[in-house]
Parts: sequence; structure tokens; C-alpha cells
Amino acid sequence: PIVLGIESSCDETGAGLVRDGRLLAHAVASSMDEHARYGGVVPEIASRSHLHSLRPVVRRALDEAGLRLADVGAVAVTTGPGLSGALQVGLAGAKGIAYALGVPLYGVHHLAGHVAADTLEHGPLPDPCMVLIVSGGHTSLLLVRDLARDPIVHLGDTLDDAAGECFDKVARVFGLPYPGGPAIDRVARDGDARAVALPRPLPRSHDFSFSGLKTAAARWAEGHAGRALPVADGAASLQEAVADVLTRKAVAACAEHGVGTLVVVGGVAANSRVRSLAEERCRAAGIELRVPPLKLCTDNGAMIAAVGDLLVRAGAEPAPLDVSIDPSAPLEYAALHPVAAA
Ligand code: ATP
Ligand code: MG
Ligand code: FE
Repeated sequence: PIVLGIESSCDETGAGLVRDGRLLAHAVASSMDEHARYGGVVPEIASRSHLHSLRPVVRRALDEAGLRLADVGAVAVTTGPGLSGALQVGLAGAKGIAYALGVPLYGVHHLAGHVAADTLEHGPLPDPCMVLIVSGGHTSLLLVRDLARDPIVHLGDTLDDAAGECFDKVARVFGLPYPGGPAIDRVARDGDARAVALPRPLPRSHDFSFSGLKTAAARWAEGHAGRALPVADGAASLQEAVADVLTRKAVAACAEHGVGTLVVVGGVAANSRVRSLAEERCRAAGIELRVPPLKLCTDNGAMIAAVGDLLVRAGAEPAPLDVSIDPSAPLEYAALHPVAAA
């Protein structure tokens, strides 16, 4: 069947259409600009924006694929984690469509969506694979087997800030526009990555820590009070430190667990230095690297449809129509209702 995926966990409203592992079309509307003047996502604005954008975004995806709503055979929707009001809007819309069409509904974990995004470009994930999720709210190393069936093993997580959060917060101190991650990436191009000595936080095991790095970068900026801040150098140095820590840990985890494939996903996987350093180090270590195309790294509906498609094909149990959101859902399984182990 054709699976419609709906994403509304934060400030992006996304709709995607996937059939048999292939992306047919997807559309995203972002309320990013409306949050910019507040320097961060305002939950109430995000919810209202989803309400405005959901129908048009579904429409756009269908139009682009040359399909009608009646062609949809299953609906997948993000049930968490995320902002509760934002999640509610997407879930209500998804329930309405599933009910009206009489097709099954699947509740999907947002981070499993980030992982599955890669399959739309590079095909099924090898079993097992190492996954580095680097996003606005998460930094995790995961051992992934069959996404539709198996529990996800958490090897490490951030002990404090997420990598994307570190970029976003330091960007603010640097006076860069919101959202900070893409701004850091942009201005870093003209900077010297060795200009500012920043720490490389490497906590034991497979965990991460970015708050010390964030503070060090902020201190450096504050030390320039009254003098011009060499923002490009600061951005390049911060980006280098983050990319260094992420890729070093991810490659070490692959070696330790004898895993031959590293998959880097989430918004920060769009970062140019994270991508190039991951490539360099994986090549040196003989590890296959997979990173989704830029548009599928940040939040979108295609990645949720991709999980739905995997669940449908694995014969997963659909969610009941009274299913609820879970704003702080832990990543144990990709679906709210995973396929029972054989
Ligand atoms: P989560 O997925 O953890 O719930 P989220 O959905 O808000 O959080 P994503 O949409 O996956 O996060 O990613 C957004 C994050 O990615 C932001 O922190 C943003 O600054 C960062 N980001 C996006 N592009 C880049 C880039 N080119 N360089 C660095 N960071 C980036
Ligand atoms: Mg976003
Ligand atoms: Fe996300």
C-alpha cells in the first residue's frame, strides 16, 4: 500500500508518501521564521502553525506524487517525543484521515523516523548497523537491527546538551540568526577551525557531553567585549570540536561492536563538517558510511512514512484510533505497537 506519513513534533509540518521503501513525494512547511524573533521554538505558535499547514502539506505531497487521498492505504504519524500541542495536531489529522479512508494507523517514534530517512535514499539498513542520531534534542549512539521488529539498543546518550542544542545556543551568543546550526555551518566556511582552542569532551563509554564545550565557546565570545568578534573563526572551531567528538566516538563504537556500517541521521547530520569528517574517518577505518540527503536530515513527513512502510510490510499491528501522544517517549521500538517477536 501507499503509506502517508505525518510529522508535527516540533516546528516542521511534514507529509510524505512512501511505497515499498520508495519515496513518492513529500512536502514540508516550517514555522521557523515565526519563532526567530523569540530565539527559539514557541510551543503555542508551533501548534497553530501545524493547524494551518497540515492540510496544505498533505495536499502538496499528493499533488506532487500525482495521487489522490483515496490512494492512501495506511497512515503513519509521529506520536512522540516532541511538543505535546504540536504532536496533538498531527495525530488528530492522521486519525481523521485514517478513519475517513478506513485504513490502518501507525504510531511512530520520531527518532526512528530520523533513522528510517536514510533507507529512502540508500535502501534497507544492514543488520546490525551503528546509528548516530544528532539532532536538536538528542545525541545518541544506537545499535539497530530490524527497525520494525527489534528493540533498539542504546549504547550512549548525551549527559547534558544535545549537539544541535550546543550549536543553537552558541550561535545566539555569537549573535547569529536562528536557527543556529545552519548559521554556524554557513559562517564557518570563512573561518579557521584552529583559531580557537576549544575542549574535546570525551566522557567514558559511549556517552557525550556538550555543555562544557558550549560554555567554553560562550566564554571565548564574552572575552571580546568591546572588540570585534571573529565569528567565522569561532564558528569553524566549534564545528570542528563537535564534529571531532561525534565522529571519533561513532567510529570507536563501530570498532568495539564489530559493526561495518555507520548511519548518521538527524538535523546535525546536515552539518558539512560532520559529514566530511565522518566520511574521512569511516574511510580510514574501513566502515561504510550512510548519511541521508540534506532535506531528509531535518524533520519531515517522508521519514515517518518510511517507518510506517516498514511496519506495514512486517505485518505490525496498527494503533487503535484512541491512541495518545507520548511527548517524552523513550526510544525502545520504532513503533508504538511493534511486531511481536517471531
Ligand atoms: P529531535 O529530533 O531531537 O526531537 P528536532 O526535531 O528539533 O529534535 P532536527 O529537526 O532533527 O531536531 O534538527 C534540528 C537541529 O539540527 C537544530 O539544532 C539545528 O540547529 C541543527 N542543524 C540543522 N542544520 C544544521 C547544520 N547544517 N549544521 C549544524 N546543525 C544543524
Ligand atoms: Mg525544526
Ligand atoms: Fe527531529
